[in-house]
Amino acid sequence: MSASTARVDLDGNIIKPITICMIGAGGFIGSHMCEKLMSETEHKVFAVDVHDDKIKHLLEPDSLPWAGRIQFYRINIKNDSRLEGLIKSSDLTLNLAAICTPADYNTRPLDTIYSNFIDGLPVVRYCSDNKKRLIHFSTCEIYGKTIGSYLPNDSPLRQDPAYYVLKEDTSPCIFGSVEKQRWSYACAKQLMERLIYAEGAENGLKFTIVRPFNWIGPRMDFIPGIDGPSEAVPRVLACFSNNLLRREPLKLVDGGQSQRTFVYIKDAIEAVLLMIENPARANGQIFNVGNPNNEVTVRQLAEMMTQVYSKVSGEDSIKTPTIDVSSKEFYGEGYDDSDKRIPDMTIINKQLGWNPKTAIWDMLESTLTYQYKTYAEAIKQTIAKPVAS
Ligand code: NAD
Ligand code: UDP
Repeated sequence: MSASTARVDLDGNIIKPITICMIGAGGFIGSHMCEKLMSETEHKVFAVDVHDDKIKHLLEPDSLPWAGRIQFYRINIKNDSRLEGLIKSSDLTLNLAAICTPADYNTRPLDTIYSNFIDGLPVVRYCSDNKKRLIHFSTCEIYGKTIGSYLPNDSPLRQDPAYYVLKEDTSPCIFGSVEKQRWSYACAKQLMERLIYAEGAENGLKFTIVRPFNWIGPRMDFIPGIDGPSEAVPRVLACFSNNLLRREPLKLVDGGQSQRTFVYIKDAIEAVLLMIENPARANGQIFNVGNPNNEVTVRQLAEMMTQVYSKVSGEDSIKTPTIDVSSKEFYGEGYDDSDKRIPDMTIINKQLGWNPKTAIWDMLESTLTYQYKTYAEAIKQTIAKPVAS
């Protein structure tokens, strides 16, 4: 890169290329991070994952402009001795690896806890022992339920942001009882945050913790029966996309009353790139990364997706676009829900000057256009196939 095009950080210093060990690089967020790092920066990536389907387009062929800057390592971090070497040879480790679909939290709680706590321990230890920087992906779910959710339904305090806005440095983490295994994920993520924080405090680990608030966009999860198991349940964007593609009603769990704020993946990864390239501003910080202006109930999300899907597919919506299902029927025993998730943006604004840009209608349009182009034909063929007798 010539001096005239050299990129600078938020303090005006020229950004030097670094090597990043990205664990979970083959997932939804990882694939977008890899794309961004390859197309807009000079950084090198060791892409670690058990899958590479979502980043294949970045790895082949050798004629790609970034060939040589990204290398894929098919490594399961549970048991692979190559991991420490890769972390040692990198300047920074980004850990995205996780089981992070709610349908797994109550049905595969052991896998969930191992994946989100135990399996990440060597990553933290290698970073700490080798004095390497770590950006660790946690979750907004570590806040659990809002304080407001425990107030009487008619309490005026429910309208007071002090009772629902989630702040990194002051909000409590409020989980349900142990039988509500939904919270196995949040609890494992919380303990991992505490461990990383303690490594920072006691051993000087340079860390940043990211708490994503419902990042959505192309390549999120899978469509059951097409590029994932037919019986598996992905996150809501993929569940609703699957229903729309198959012309089935969208299933509203417990009436679809829970609220979420959605942020477009392309906005969110801008925030992560700022963390990567501004270590002095990001080290030692925990960041909410979300879009407080994009709040909807799950029911509203279903209605919006139905409308946008009609537009991008040219198909009228079906007669009964949504149906109600109980959480027990949909997720099984032990499911529970976060009622509302609005990120406070003070810390990320102050440290990195980051703000999300994309409105919910726009992100749904680009994402559903991608879903339609990628899956509509494959779904038609599956539906047309005669069932074996
Ligand atoms: P994802 O499931 O698409 O990506 C996770 C990747 O990690 C997958 O490709 C998976 O194969 C890989 N992985 C899991 N276990 C592994 C192991 N043992 N060894 C090697 N690779 C392994 O999920 P995502 O949406 O990209 O999320 C990335 C991170 O962000 C996760 O830690 C998740 O908890 C967190 N997060 C994401 C969101 C969101 O809105 N997408 C919200 C909250 C938290
Ligand atoms: N949900 C739903 N129907 C579905 C899938 C999910 O009503 O087909 C609801 C789910 O109960 C939760 C919200 O959508 O209230 C968001 O779920 P998601 O799986 O995306 O993860 P979460 O935001 O809870 O981590």
